Amino acid sequence: MSRLIDTHFHLELDEQPTALAAEIDQRQVYTLAVSNAPSFYRIMRDRLGERRFVRLAVGLHPELVERYAHELDDLLGLMTEIRYVGEVGLDGSPPHRATLREQRRVFEQVVSRANDLGERVLSIHSRKAERDVLDVLGPAFSGTAILHWYSGPLSLVERALAVGAYFSINPAMCRSATGRALIAALPRTRVLTETDGPFVQVDSQPAKPWDVVEVTRALGKVWGTSDEGVRRQIHQNFGSVLKAGKT
Ligand code: MN
Repeated sequence: MSRLIDTHFHLELDEQPTALAAEIDQRQVYTLAVSNAPSFYRIMRDRLGERRFVRLAVGLHPELVERYAHELDDLLGLMTEIRYVGEVGLDGSPPHRATLREQRRVFEQVVSRANDLGERVLSIHSRKAERDVLDVLGPAFSGTAILHWYSGPLSLVERALAVGAYFSINPAMCRSATGRALIAALPRTRVLTETDGPFVQVDSQPAKPWDVVEVTRALGKVWGTSDEGVRRQIHQNFGSVLKAGKT
């Protein structure tokens, strides 16, 4: 069976990230571990060192902008050496609407930096701010945007696809009607898999990267293909993400 890929997992929020990273390596699940702030990224980098299956992304979570905006310069600096950026984006839901202006200032600088550097892969949060996220990315974004847990209107999907965005689908989305409608609306070539653990649960436990198997199985049902067929498609898609900008 082709290996599973989790493009959005919060390893730093696990109680024992080093042990979990070892298990991820042992289970051979390609895992993109996002960070909520550059200081968290630095701690994880020091603790984990080089891993075969775990890659660290540096980010600044939009819901935490108030607390970590002072780390923006560190993030922009780290982006020089790190290709994966996340979790970044905007959150316009009621608890975070008050910081939207500040969130936008941060996200605009991240996107502009990614444009300057090229080849950057962004895992993007867009809850209740999907249009704003696409506005900030603009039509000429030079990196690759992965819209993580997209829950916005289907009417914006075309616009997102036009800027080359991918959509990472998690187990919670597979269980909801809106998530399944999104899956049905997406071209297979733009779909990726994620868990967003520990925020998503599987069997009443915080999701671990290997739980993306729930997503590959759900995609198989919608697409009418085998689990292996889905895994191969996801591999191909992630391969395209990694190749983007490298030509
Ligand atoms: Mn997340």
